[in-house]
Amino acid sequence: MLARGQLCGYNSVRVLRIHSVWIGTLKNVFLVGTCIYICFALVSDKLYQRKEPVISSVHTKVKGIAEVKEEVVADGMKRLVRTVLDTADYTFPLQGNSFFVMTNFLKTEGQEQRLCPEYPTRRTLCSSDRGCKKGWMDPQSKGIQTGRCVVYRGNQKTCEVAAWCPIEAVEEAPRPARLSSAENFTVLIKNNVDFPGHNYTTRNILPGLNITCTFHKTQNPQCPIFRLGDIFRETGDNFSDVAIQGGIMGIEIYWDCNLDSWSHHCRPKYSFRRLDDKTTNESLYPGYNFRYAKYYKENNVEKRTLIKVFGIRFDILVFGTGGKFDIIQLVVYVGSTLSYFGLATVFIDFLINTYSSPVCRSRVYPCCTCCQPCAVNEYYYRKKCEPIVEPKPTLKYVSFVDESHIRMIDKQLLGKSLQHVKGQEVPRPPLDFTDLTKLPLSLHDPPPIPGQPEEMQPLREEVTPKSRDRPSWCKCGSCLPSQLPERRRCLEELCCRRKPGACITTSQLFGKLVLSRHALQCLLLYQEPLLALEAEDTNSRLRHCAYRCYTTWRFGSQDMADFAILPSCCRWRIRREFPKSKGQYSGFRSPY
Ligand code: GDP
Ligand code: ZN
Ligand code: ZN
Repeated sequence: MLARGQLCGYNSVRVLRIHSVWIGTLKNVFLVGTCIYICFALVSDKLYQRKEPVISSVHTKVKGIAEVKEEVVADGMKRLVRTVLDTADYTFPLQGNSFFVMTNFLKTEGQEQRLCPEYPTRRTLCSSDRGCKKGWMDPQSKGIQTGRCVVYRGNQKTCEVAAWCPIEAVEEAPRPARLSSAENFTVLIKNNVDFPGHNYTTRNILPGLNITCTFHKTQNPQCPIFRLGDIFRETGDNFSDVAIQGGIMGIEIYWDCNLDSWSHHCRPKYSFRRLDDKTTNESLYPGYNFRYAKYYKENNVEKRTLIKVFGIRFDILVFGTGGKFDIIQLVVYVGSTLSYFGLATVFIDFLINTYSSPVCRSRVYPCCTCCQPCAVNEYYYRKKCEPIVEPKPTLKYVSFVDESHIRMIDKQLLGKSLQHVKGQEVPRPPLDFTDLTKLPLSLHDPPPIPGQPEEMQPLREEVTPKSRDRPSWCKCGSCLPSQLPERRRCLEELCCRRKPGACITTSQLFGKLVLSRHALQCLLLYQEPLLALEAEDTNSRLRHCAYRCYTTWRFGSQDMADFAILPSCCRWRIRREFPKSKGQYSGFRSPY
């Protein structure tokens, strides 16, 4: 069940406010920049609009006349025949939004069904009947082999086939193209478009349009009549070159419609794109061609004229969108841009974090030496960031009087004295002077309460090492061996010093801060004002409080104090002051 506080409460985030002209300016620059960008993108890309795709229908009409000159051999005489071709001759109906214009052709006339030799190629040549196979149908060939090898012309022999004879010759497309004048043909494109999402329909030919125009990219960009040669010029191709082998050309009609009433605009943009392989010389099957036949009867025999047609297929591609204002789109856009306002925070945090990193402190960045932002950033960083170490059961902190830093040890001791474990250096937390005022710090003790032992010894007394029980790891001369069982003993094998010298227990402050019964009693009463100080367990309470005083004094931060290990000398000095009546001392236990 949800607690009432959870249901009615609200978790807000606490923030750090940095008063700095430089950072403030940086933030404002970011905010203004973000605002400008968002507004610019909103207006320029019309991101407040709902965009719908276009659907369309296309109808084309090609117009033009071409004259073809052909050499015809009749009655042994060569004659030049001129044929005039019109729309019906050179355009072919195609599926979809495409039309085809013939530009070149190869004709094989008078074909009928009979037996005849194949056209001689490397594949069809033969020397005897053994080179041919009866009933064989090669997909590359034009008919079914009869199994005979017959003379084609002179001494060339090829396999005989049953097919439309004579077989079509394998020839290159004529150069120049026979209908190269097709470049002057024109095509009229009728395009009706519909935006079903916006319920809007329009077309490219509006009522008042001059229908005798010709499209020109700059002078007449709305004219729907295109000269084929011009289309190729736009894409940088030469019509007469493409006309020889044929090709595929795309006519793109782009509708970018703004259907808002206050800025209505919906006219097509035409552009062209060569869609087939331009490098005709290198490609395997260059150009675009197909075959078709005209059938007729002559003397009751079915005959046909086979025409291999080369030409240009024009594909008309209609695409585009229609946009109209939509409040939902606007809200979605504004919502999606809100995160950009966080950029300033990300960037400034990045600066603070980088310039206070150890890399920066090591003066690798040349800027640190000139403008010195490190110190300031480091200050911000300290305020911003609270480092936390995972509270593992193996975590311990130790502090030596002769070292300025604290050591963090995060591993099992495995019988090794704590004194000898190296650990990792961590900086001592900065001193908080407000804490000091809470302590009864007068260097003059209150008058001793009668009946209570006078605890303070002269503090500067010389330590006389009792060399007999002094453990080998002790450097101060005041440590004692641990009482703990063998397994945990190493935890208490810690001296107050790293190098030989005076013990911390001989310092004046040790007596004042840690051993002062009066001060400890005050602290206990501070926590529990009605505590009976004469009770039996008071000594234990005072002792634990003294441990706490020592760790707070030497380690500063509460997080560290919980895991701080007392040196043996301090531990035994405190225990001597506030002894346990019976039984063994239990020693340090990790709070986790
Ligand atoms: P006890 O009074 O018989 O239990 O034995 P101790 O005098 O050793 O006190 C044990 C209590 O003091 C436990 O709560 C320990 O966590 C705490 N304590 C003992 N030694 C240390 C130490 O080195 N560091 C810290 N932070 N606490 C200690
Ligand atoms: Zn010692
Ligand atoms: Zn010591």
